[in-house]
Amino acid sequence: MTPEGVLSPEHLAIRESVRDFVSREVEPIASRLDNEGAEIPAPVVSKMAELGYFGLTVGPEHGGGGLDTLSMAIVTEELSRAWLSVGSVMTRMIIAGKLIEAHGTAEQKTRFLPGICSGELLAAAAFTEPDAGSDAAAIKTRAVREGDAYRVTGEKAWCTFANRARLLTTTVRTNPAVPKHEGISVLLLEKGPGFSPPSLCGDAIPTIGYKGMISYNVAFDGYQVNSDNLLGGVEGQGFKQLMATYELARIQTAARAVGVAQAALEAALHYAKERTQFDRPICEFQVIRHKLAHAATEIEAARQLTYFACRMKETARRCDLEAGMAKAFAAEMAERVTSECLQIFGGYGYSREFPAQRYWRDARVFRIFEGTSEIQYEVIAKRLLS
Ligand SMILES: Cc1cc2nc3c(=O)[nH]c(=O)nc-3n(C[C@H](O)[C@H](O)[C@H](O)COP(=O)(O)OP(=O)(O)OC[C@H]3O[C@@H](n4cnc5c(N)ncnc54)[C@H](O)[C@@H]3O)c2cc1C
Repeated sequence: MTPEGVLSPEHLAIRESVRDFVSREVEPIASRLDNEGAEIPAPVVSKMAELGYFGLTVGPEHGGGGLDTLSMAIVTEELSRAWLSVGSVMTRMIIAGKLIEAHGTAEQKTRFLPGICSGELLAAAAFTEPDAGSDAAAIKTRAVREGDAYRVTGEKAWCTFANRARLLTTTVRTNPAVPKHEGISVLLLEKGPGFSPPSLCGDAIPTIGYKGMISYNVAFDGYQVNSDNLLGGVEGQGFKQLMATYELARIQTAARAVGVAQAALEAALHYAKERTQFDRPICEFQVIRHKLAHAATEIEAARQLTYFACRMKETARRCDLEAGMAKAFAAEMAERVTSECLQIFGGYGYSREFPAQRYWRDARVFRIFEGTSEIQYEVIAKRLLS
């Protein structure tokens, strides 16, 4: 774990305060709720909002904390160390906040950002569709302008937190006549709690992990959105606007992966000291000691790559290369580390009575969402070869 002295006193204080929060409010309930397949309790979400986690990087003029990308990564790691789902509520808020802060009209910033930062306006991201995942520009969901409103019709897939969100940042096709990237816009689609059939329906997708948040297939059938909610007020900018959030979301996802892997290592360290076989604690067997040492080394490498991407982000220069490297490396690291840590638990690793299996199930998603590993390597290769 990054030693004191490498992080600034401010960053260390942030880390301590998140640790304090999760040790009281999240760690005692995470495994039980995961086993029950229950969502994150509303009071935990409210407390996160109160602590300023949802607007961490948004400017203070809009109600945010105005903190740097490294602070965001530190908060994310600690929340995810307690429960991936908790660290992932932030992802949606960061994407919505970034989209609006970077591309919204002045009126949209005033109308939406304070609510996002305060947690009154919980957000979800509706980008993926049944036939458009990695190829995000292949979306078919249509928004047709009728007077002062858009009518939205189509299907989104994997919209996580859609049930609890009041704002869906939604990619739509506003012009089907132009090449695919150019006809896309982002709508700031407001909704009530839950869904409102028949114009807005949601079907939960059963998943193997990530249990504290539910992902939905969402169907729009003529759902009406005020035209003032077109991000930036100009049609056809959606794809470019979305690209601008990818770096931050990928850095945040790398930090989530580091957090889950760190939790698995801590659990395995504890178990390896307690469990005895052949009259010795299993941590005395070299093969177990080396598994632990290898896991710790991989985690620190991923953490430092994530921190590096954070610093690059602060330079305001393009950092898709560094964000992609951090995301791809941390995702694969988390899968390996959580699997090896589960192995240290032997049969108990396979039992729901121990959290090792939760970390392993949760870690598997990192190579898939926020751009698959294959897509990250394409981004990296493109930059290397350009
Ligand atoms: C738990 C979970 C939560 C999610 N939450 C959200 C959310 O909140 N909002 C949202 O919009 N989306 C969400 N997603 C969707 C996620 O972003 C997509 O699953 C992801 O982008 C991949 O798209 P896909 O599933 O359609 O796979 P596909 O794009 O069909 O990919 C299938 C396989 O082909 C590979 N592949 C595709 N294109 C290429 C290429 N050009 N080169 C090499 N390999 C390629 C992929 O890497 C993958 O291995 C979530 C997904 C999961 C699993």
